[in-house]
Amino acid sequence: MNFDQITEPLDRRLADGLTRLAAVARQLDWQAAEAAGLSPTQADILRFVANRPAGARLTDAAAHAGVRKATASDAVSALERKALVRKYADATDGRAVALKVTARGHQVARDWPSNFAPIVAGLNQAEQEALLGLVVKMIRHLQQRRLIAPQRTCVTCRHFRENVAPGTGTPHFCAFVGAPMAELHLRVDCAEHELAA
Ligand code: SF4
Repeated sequence: MNFDQITEPLDRRLADGLTRLAAVARQLDWQAAEAAGLSPTQADILRFVANRPAGARLTDAAAHAGVRKATASDAVSALERKALVRKYADATDGRAVALKVTARGHQVARDWPSNFAPIVAGLNQAEQEALLGLVVKMIRHLQQRRLIAPQRTCVTCRHFRENVAPGTGTPHFCAFVGAPMAELHLRVDCAEHELAA
């Protein structure tokens, strides 16, 4: 008998572990939402819009939250009643609804606890850096296969120059900031992101 015969395949065990971590993160997020008097969808949309100072479309917020447009619209109406978000007509398409966060909404989003903080707290700095690289790689792969809505991560940004200084501590370069970047600087949701062609 050896472990190859009695062990579930690697990808299955990874999936089990990731599913459990995701469940913990989701639960922590729901607790934070409840404490703030929001539903999980309202909380998702509030933070999505708060990270887009120029405003966000309702359809994009719905895609981000993984809900139908009608569900997102109900959530936005609730956020509006709580004076956290305001609606306006999109300047580029008068029929589209765009959203901005109010000053109070920004405050709530800023104070939001990171739901993965207790999970990654068990890793040291080098392990967190390595994990960030893997997370970015997985997001890129999902995006290439169109299994995830476009994410504002460095590896899909037109300002990103990947591995232009191989073998150094800062192999990448951000042309927007005009500065070299290390792996630990990679962003997953950057407000300055512009999708590469
Ligand atoms: S603008 Fe933002 S997303 Fe783009 S490369 Fe620079 S840091 Fe990364």
